[in-house]
Amino acid sequence: MVSWNIVLGLMVMAFALPFIFLGGKMKLIRRRASEEHNEVKQLRGILAELEEHVRRDQSLFLEALGVPFLLMRPSGRVVMANQKAAHLFGMATMTNVNLLRLLPESELRQVIQQAVDSTEKVRAMVQVPRPEGERVYRVTATHLATREKHIGIVFLDMTEEHRTQVIRRDFVANASHELRTPLTLILGYLETLLDDPEALNDRELSERSLGIMRRHADRMARLVADMLMLSRVETPDSGYLKCEHFDLAQLAEDVRLRLENLASAQQAQVALDIEPHPFDMQGDSFYWSQVLFNLMENALKNNPSPGLQLRVSAGLAADGTRHICVEDNGVGIGADSLPYIFNRFYRADKTGRIKGTGLGLAIVKHAVEAHGGSIRAESEPGVRTAFIITLPPDCC
Ligand code: ADP
Repeated sequence: MVSWNIVLGLMVMAFALPFIFLGGKMKLIRRRASEEHNEVKQLRGILAELEEHVRRDQSLFLEALGVPFLLMRPSGRVVMANQKAAHLFGMATMTNVNLLRLLPESELRQVIQQAVDSTEKVRAMVQVPRPEGERVYRVTATHLATREKHIGIVFLDMTEEHRTQVIRRDFVANASHELRTPLTLILGYLETLLDDPEALNDRELSERSLGIMRRHADRMARLVADMLMLSRVETPDSGYLKCEHFDLAQLAEDVRLRLENLASAQQAQVALDIEPHPFDMQGDSFYWSQVLFNLMENALKNNPSPGLQLRVSAGLAADGTRHICVEDNGVGIGADSLPYIFNRFYRADKTGRIKGTGLGLAIVKHAVEAHGGSIRAESEPGVRTAFIITLPPDCC
């Protein structure tokens, strides 16, 4: 009986042992699996964090470029782009946008298509219409040595440089034209006098010719002086501008004295109404004297008929802003000319009877702006023509 029990016990154990053993193994495997699962989860987290870091660094780098930049595939699909590039194309984000499909037929689209079609670096100046006005960009497209043949495109805003270049070109063309006229006249009279011995013996003809030559030489000298002055006031960062305290009332009085002969010859009344006296100003008194001289002389020379009333006034607002006004009741400036009078070489008087270079108001405007101020003109012909200067409290 005992031996049956032993046999039975041994049989049960033989049957149960593998299960006990397997159960333990299973537990171990399950624990390992769960540990590995946690490790994988942890690794995934680290990977995601790393990816986020790379993305953030990449986007920081893209934004730090400071200029519109995008990377696209030859198909035109944008792989990455910074905010400046998105702004340029009027979009919130550009990733996955197809640039070639997005752009209408335009200069810019042609340049991008050219970059796709060629394997060389493409560089071009393009005009891009923007809501705030047309801008000029230098576009550089470079092919990258990646498997997907990415193309990197950088946009450099060259609007200001382009504008300056156009102004310079126009200035040189205008200046040469303005100088050529008196020079041709002087050369013409000189030739007449030198080639014809009779002409030199004719005292009346010689005197008349010399008088005309002198007038035109004076005009050339005025033009050169004004051009030099304009070129100096146009580059305020060259350090020429002094910042000193001076009395505007005294300065206006000096200018009035310089113009006294002209004013009295025309029976013009000049009133200086500058409050308070002394009117403390900060800036370069040489340029302020030029500003007042040009404005006051303009009023006098454009109104030779007797009885002109010219008034210079200045006031200080509670916030420290200064206003200077030069006004007259003369012939004034027509509405068709008013928007252009500050342009270089613009002359509203087409008769040619009034002396001038067309640079006086351009000099005034640049001198005022170099002091951080602004100037505007208003005119009701025959009633009131006024040049109003506004200066911030700290004007230099
Ligand atoms: P200019 O050297 O010919 O005087 P400015 O640049 O000083 O050139 O002035 C431009 C034009 O503005 C002048 O040709 C003139 O016709 C007009 N103008 C300026 N000030 C006055 C004024 N007070 N009254 C009438 N016209 C003026």
